[in-house]
Amino acid sequence: MKTYYFSGLCFRRFFCLITAFILAACAGAQEEPERSIVEIGEDLYRAQNGGHYTVFLVTDEGIILSDPINTDFSMWLKTELDNRFGMPVRYVLYSHHHWDHASGGSVFEETAQFVGHENMLGQLAMPSADTALPADAAGMDSNGNGQLEQSEASGFYGAQFSLFDQDSNGVINGAEATRGALKDVVAPGLTYRDRLTVTLGGKSVELIYTGNMSHTDDMSIIRFDDPGAIFVVDWISLGRVPFRTLFVSNRMTQGSGMLDSWLNAIRMAEQLDYEVASGGHGIVGDKSDVTAFRHYLEEMREQVAEAIAEGQSLEEMQASILMEPYSDWINYDGHRVQNVQGMYDMLIQ
Ligand SMILES: [Zn+2]
Repeated sequence: MKTYYFSGLCFRRFFCLITAFILAACAGAQEEPERSIVEIGEDLYRAQNGGHYTVFLVTDEGIILSDPINTDFSMWLKTELDNRFGMPVRYVLYSHHHWDHASGGSVFEETAQFVGHENMLGQLAMPSADTALPADAAGMDSNGNGQLEQSEASGFYGAQFSLFDQDSNGVINGAEATRGALKDVVAPGLTYRDRLTVTLGGKSVELIYTGNMSHTDDMSIIRFDDPGAIFVVDWISLGRVPFRTLFVSNRMTQGSGMLDSWLNAIRMAEQLDYEVASGGHGIVGDKSDVTAFRHYLEEMREQVAEAIAEGQSLEEMQASILMEPYSDWINYDGHRVQNVQGMYDMLIQ
């Protein structure tokens, strides 16, 4: 009996250890997004972190990288770049300041210069200390002290608490909540207003300002001269419907005027010289995919405008505006209905 008892205990302990190991492995697997590096033009590569992508160009004098995405990804990427190319990253060219694309640059800080549109500096600046919590955060402030403790923070504030908490004092104050989850974003040391060309190892890469439009006011198109390619993030997705209600609300004035400036920026992107187009999300394509994305927005605008004129409710529009030619695009099932709402909100303003 005794032996049986001890062996049973051992077996149970062993079983628990195995279970713990499997659970840890599963948790690890869930945290680790799918990562890959694919060559999309000569010496031009697309790197993946789950649903997020960036690009980099390898030259004889080092690497020109676009968005660093986040610290974990950048650490992984740096190891890959060291192993594959043995070259340092000399430039980090930001598409825009948003936390889920621009974080992680400190991994390359020793060797790289950081470049972005001049409005990035304003977006990264900390608002004044007396800034109140924005309405969504104020709703979580159950002890009413004007700031969020970790125990109060839920949703995005809870998930990215440490990236909001710029001074690492364990609370998110009004200024930090208003600014965003931007702690891991290294500010650009080199900024530009309209266009800027960066050259390295005989290769040129251009940053082109899109103008103030729907997604943010600090958006750059990254255009590689050789091979001819553009990298565009969030405001154009290739083979993927727009995100949720079309806009990220980031201290931006919204309205149908923003839709016009968005469409004009896409037209500008269509006029540039390149063969390969890739985005921060979606597939790798060409200019026809950029045009198709504009057509999606234009067709949806037309159909929503007609439905409004007919007196349809939002729910009726969401049921009837199916955008069927785009049904094979990524996120069609999840986001089309919200796209209709975003378009409706814009057109009734
Ligand atoms: Zn964004």
